[in-house]
Amino acid sequence: TDLAHIRNFSIVAHIDHGKSTLADRLIQSTNTVAERDMKAQMLDAMDIERERGITIKANSVRIEYIAKNGETYVLNLIDTPGHVDFAYEVSRSMQAVEGSLLVVDASQGVEAQTLANVYQALDADHEIVPVLNKIDLPAADPERVKENIEDVIGIDAQDAIPISAKSGLGIPDVLEAIVHRLPAPKGERDAPLKAMLVDSWYDPYLGVVVLIRVIDGVIKKGDQIKMMRTGAAYKIDKLAVLKPQMVDFPELGPGEIGVFTAQIKQVRDTKVGDTITHDKKPCAQALPGFKPSIPVVFCGLFPVDANDFEALRDAIEKLQLNDASFSSEMETSAALGFGFRCGFLGLLHLEVIRDRLEREYDLDLITTAPSVVYHLHMKDGTMQELHNPADMPDLTYVDHVQEPRIKATIMVPDEYLGDVLKLCQDRRGIQMDLTYAGTRAMVVYDLPLNEVVFDFYDRLKSVTKGYASFDYQMIGYREDNLVKMQILVNDEPVDALSMMVHRDRAETRGRAMCEKLKDLIPRHMFKIPIQAAIGGKVIARETLSALRKDVTAKCYGGDATRKKKLLEKQKAGKKKMRQFGKVEIPQEAFISALKMD
Ligand code: GDP
Ligand code: MG
Repeated sequence: TDLAHIRNFSIVAHIDHGKSTLADRLIQSTNTVAERDMKAQMLDAMDIERERGITIKANSVRIEYIAKNGETYVLNLIDTPGHVDFAYEVSRSMQAVEGSLLVVDASQGVEAQTLANVYQALDADHEIVPVLNKIDLPAADPERVKENIEDVIGIDAQDAIPISAKSGLGIPDVLEAIVHRLPAPKGERDAPLKAMLVDSWYDPYLGVVVLIRVIDGVIKKGDQIKMMRTGAAYKIDKLAVLKPQMVDFPELGPGEIGVFTAQIKQVRDTKVGDTITHDKKPCAQALPGFKPSIPVVFCGLFPVDANDFEALRDAIEKLQLNDASFSSEMETSAALGFGFRCGFLGLLHLEVIRDRLEREYDLDLITTAPSVVYHLHMKDGTMQELHNPADMPDLTYVDHVQEPRIKATIMVPDEYLGDVLKLCQDRRGIQMDLTYAGTRAMVVYDLPLNEVVFDFYDRLKSVTKGYASFDYQMIGYREDNLVKMQILVNDEPVDALSMMVHRDRAETRGRAMCEKLKDLIPRHMFKIPIQAAIGGKVIARETLSALRKDVTAKCYGGDATRKKKLLEKQKAGKKKMRQFGKVEIPQEAFISALKMD
């Protein structure tokens, strides 16, 4: 296809504003997928994405569209994830296209992720076409939302296209706008091959599949290609476009987007952002590449049943074939035995991986307290990264500790502003900015990431009845008075519950943890002290009283079915328990104990 007849674009939106539904409509109305093969949310491939209604991996589709002027255009849509944890994937898929549809729910207006994502599009020099979705809703107010877009984002929204992705209203206008308002890509057909490695994933049948955007030159099946960063050379076995299922294609020229396979063994061998060129006739200069994604949240994953360790190792390796953005290394814990310390892009990423391990590989896992990465500045002048609070060295060697801070942007209706400010203040936040757009406030806070990883998002949702939206970016490391707090159950330290806390908040945190654990740990035949300690000094204490014999007797009396039910329940519960010395601790305790109210 010649460049003038190609349009490459992405769709940016806050979660739930209708990005996937719009993508479905575009695919459907152009007959890209036969009607009988159409399922809702074509691009959200993973089960977990469908269930949670979120897009995790970016994906792509090639649409052929006959415009009103009678000409046929190739429209390549790269779908991007909307959630903050995956901001990195958003930014790299933006580099592969020239324009964006900005979808805003006409009954809601601009939200925090709308802003974060549209700024990424503007950073990538995109032409932007605003689209007002859900105009079928009685609460839709397109005129107000147009103003809102202009006030908050500062782009012209007068020509925003009103649509209902649900009913299909306005979809033809969107297709025409893509052709006439977004720019065609630039590139040279006769130049040496230069293609951007946009994404890669592991397919059980095809092996590693690589998504590329051709900048210059032409790539064909059978070509000998080279990855410029790694220097590795491969022969293209299969070249295809995504519709969205793979359809073989003879060649891809400048501006085109497609996939290839080349007997690449691991996703790790394909560095996203790398430049692909011909082995014999390489291009002069590689593309600038993307910033690598760095894991920011770590936690331990241990099998409930120690015999499942090998199965867990296997499962982690398989998942890493698919998602090179999570890291793992073996970890041993006195209490939990053998497991892995894994690094994630954020809490949602952690949850998604843990969920997939449990579901797709049928494993029962204990997840230890998530922790951010601390910088330990040692007295000898060196710096160490601390990924696991249990590894905190003796304080006599440590000069000072730095923690990661984020810039959080929260948008909220003004009646909830007070609660949001209080929440941020409670989490050691420093207010940076507060502005209004109509009746919505936009507040910017500098917050410690470790105060956000546990339950900040849940708390924010609950204090604002779900009306707040949130987005963040890392801004760097700063020193603070941070100490390691240990939890002792029946006088034994449970390293999996160790955490780093701010000294001023240690007593409150410690007391809350002990109280929580008292409720979470079932009573035993003996009294169990639960303590929080800093460097050997106990700062909080609770006692779980012993179970009296007559109570059990009562429990087990009565009719046989009830007794059987109780026993079954107990058995199921047992599976999820772990023995610590003489005490059994249920697996939920490790996460629940860390949530603050
Ligand atoms: P995404 O998170 O941006 O991908 O949003 P989805 O496409 O998954 O849509 C979120 C929800 O909004 C779903 O329940 C959709 O059915 C609904 N939705 C999407 N478009 C419309 C629309 O035009 N009108 C109405 N009423 N609902 C819509
Ligand atoms: Mg979606």
